[in-house]
Amino acid sequence: ISFADLGLAEPLMRAIADAGYTHPTPIQAQAIPQVLKGGDLLAAAQTGTGKTAGFTLPLLHLLSSNRPAQMRPGRPRCLILTPTRELTAQVEESVQIYGKYLPLKSMVMFGGVNINPQISALKKPVDILVATPGRLLDHVGQKTLDLSGVEILVLDEADRMLDMGFIRDIRKILALLPAKRQNLLFSATFSGDIRALAKGVLNDPGEVSV
Ligand code: AMP
Repeated sequence: ISFADLGLAEPLMRAIADAGYTHPTPIQAQAIPQVLKGGDLLAAAQTGTGKTAGFTLPLLHLLSSNRPAQMRPGRPRCLILTPTRELTAQVEESVQIYGKYLPLKSMVMFGGVNINPQISALKKPVDILVATPGRLLDHVGQKTLDLSGVEILVLDEADRMLDMGFIRDIRKILALLPAKRQNLLFSATFSGDIRALAKGVLNDPGEVSV
């Protein structure tokens, strides 16, 4: 299977070529077509498998195909939750690399730093927000972030988020999202807790594993 078989938009194909990727990794070959179809996804994948491009490429495709002419500030269309500051930065870097030929805006949000620059950034339109759960809820409390426009939710490294005690924050965030949305859950391991979370979040998900 080649990238050309996956149905990704031309600006994404150009970014993939720039990155020097010749073939999709197994998780990408499985996940990308499922996400492009609009369905929910449960994916078992470790770091190093190319999982980040596996969700970033198709969500960029979907978001660019129906971007409203008028974007409201502070109201992301895609929310990617990750457990750590480092991972938010890595994921947003991937969003930038693969989305370099698309007009989509992204931002990161994590705790342990001054909240004011993040508040300023939210005064502009944002398509894709990559965040850790705690700081995201701080912004919700300050009414600087509006989650009512989220079309796609990604839980990345969901097992680590549970290990770090984020389950209550995740549940609070889920309650703030529109009911009608696409959900992607990535986890390296599948404990009972992850299964329970997946059951509550995902609708009739496709399952992929590598
Ligand atoms: P990840 O598992 O998302 O952390 O990605 C691991 C590494 O694989 C990253 O450095 C990516 O740049 C690289 N990568 C992702 N997809 C491909 C691909 N299709 N071909 C070659 N390298 C890739």
